[in-house]
Amino acid sequence: MCGIVGYVGPRPALPILVEGLRRLEYRGYDSSGVALVNGERTVAITKSAGRINVLEQLLDYEHATATCGIGHTRWATHGAPTDINAHPHTDQTGRIAVIHNGIIENYRALKTYLAQQGVEFQSQTDTEVLAQLIGLRYHGNLERAVREALLEVDGTYGLAVVCSEEPGVLVAARKGSPLIIGVGKNENILASDAAAIIAHTTQVVYLADGEIARITADGFKTTTMDAAPVTKELEEIEWTLDQIELGGHDHFMSKEIFEQPAALEMCMRGRIDPHTGSVHLGGLTDCARELTRAKRIILTGCGTAWHAALVGEYLFEELARIPTETEYASEFRYRNPIIEDGTVVIAISQSGETADTYAALCEAQDRGALALGVVNSVGSTIARQTDAGVYLHVGPEIGVASTKAFSGQVTVLAMMAAFLGRRKHLSQPGASQFLEALSVIPRQVEQCLATADQCRAVAERYHERLNWLYLGRGFNYPVALEGALKLKEISYIHAEGLPAAEMKHGPIALIEEGMPVVCIATNCAQYDKIISNIEEVRSRGGHVIAIATEGNRGIHEVAEQVIHVPDTLDPLQPLLTVVPLQLIAYHAAVLRGCNVDKPRNLAKSVTVE
Ligand code: GLU
Repeated sequence: MCGIVGYVGPRPALPILVEGLRRLEYRGYDSSGVALVNGERTVAITKSAGRINVLEQLLDYEHATATCGIGHTRWATHGAPTDINAHPHTDQTGRIAVIHNGIIENYRALKTYLAQQGVEFQSQTDTEVLAQLIGLRYHGNLERAVREALLEVDGTYGLAVVCSEEPGVLVAARKGSPLIIGVGKNENILASDAAAIIAHTTQVVYLADGEIARITADGFKTTTMDAAPVTKELEEIEWTLDQIELGGHDHFMSKEIFEQPAALEMCMRGRIDPHTGSVHLGGLTDCARELTRAKRIILTGCGTAWHAALVGEYLFEELARIPTETEYASEFRYRNPIIEDGTVVIAISQSGETADTYAALCEAQDRGALALGVVNSVGSTIARQTDAGVYLHVGPEIGVASTKAFSGQVTVLAMMAAFLGRRKHLSQPGASQFLEALSVIPRQVEQCLATADQCRAVAERYHERLNWLYLGRGFNYPVALEGALKLKEISYIHAEGLPAAEMKHGPIALIEEGMPVVCIATNCAQYDKIISNIEEVRSRGGHVIAIATEGNRGIHEVAEQVIHVPDTLDPLQPLLTVVPLQLIAYHAAVLRGCNVDKPRNLAKSVTVE
């Protein structure tokens, strides 16, 4: 689930490992640790619960001359986040150290077996079982021991292993949890995420599921679980270092909110032509025919990606007239879904590693659906598994609360809908008008960002209220859900998003004097209905914060605060209305003293079910 870094080369490993762990901090974690191979009989372990700062206090940089080591940030699944349960874990002899992302599902059976062999356990983790098993299978060849142990293991893993008897060797293995080898000059860096690599090299190799790598300073060798050699291609990471640094912002979340105009420009670059009404999505060329014949589209994802999918559902039906449904990936994978001929499943995930979304995708493929991906992380598990797909190209997203990835996902879905629409019912002038409106969205998002002070004022006034409602209709209903989720996840305020008209079927009972109710009341066919909903809120004492289009009639009379966004076509409104909601959530979290980029209990890419 969390972070893995490994180093082997000519330089002292420790500072590189700690710097790498810091770059992975954004993923969320509860403890951290390092293991160094320093020529002693055992591997030197330092680990502790809590933040990396705590670990740093325990480290002795001066004497750490080892040039090979591994580091880990843990997100506990088995055993509390204590010092002892932190990784690395060693075998009984202390010669072998293991860091692990994922879950060893048969750890109980293995633990019983190992106990019968006389192994005594130090921790409650599933990972220690693996370390002990590798130790038991070790007879002078670390790679072979890892391979043999893994043949006995069920579950998921990204794994890095070192051994005091083989200094200068890292063994890595992957199944369901990403690992990348950064290939440098006389040095190699292993990591679970490109963020820990790009300060050193942009040349990488992505390990695939079922592969094992033996990595030394001057090279690496990859094999399958059956020891068959695999030739890997060197790839180039697109991201740059400044994209994963704060660049003057207090938090990654605010940086990423403000990056949206540029991010959406990148996302659309070379892909749309408003003059001809055409959309070029290279990733879809090979399956364009099959896609055009689609009888049904299922969009699937989790959290924010699921909200983007809901916008996508409206877009596909409106522009391409193809029946579309949105499904929570976690439900889809287990509920025996109907996949008929002509069903296309589109999996949406920022990281491309979301376990539930990945499983939903595999389920859809097994049942014969054409499976597409809408993913940000190039080379990620979902991106590799799909038959085809479209990358967001919005740059790395570090803040746990997704912002620019949401806008990127909606933009990609809008382009896909127009792409399909043109091949079906959408006229050329219709497509041109839509793409023209899409092409000016980045500039309009900039105008939305200019409301930051107003959004801050809303947060100042209401951040102590612990219940909020968000209402929207049509294309803005998913935005209401997204606004509520943003507030919940980073400021720990309870918030509910609703289709505005649903309020009177139950949630209206919650409204009391002074309750903040954020209403998205932009220009649209149902504007008068939204005003009626707002009146219903007001007459029960709720305070309405309206997100409205400039010049909307009557809005100032009914709302406590009005935040204006520019006008656009209805289907594109989510790209504008979401911006003030992101800003309100951000400021509320800052005012409440919350850890904006690393909210409690959350992780950036959820690679467990
Ligand atoms: N299952 C392991 C543990 O609880 C690994 C957790 C992780 O992925 O960080 O220690």
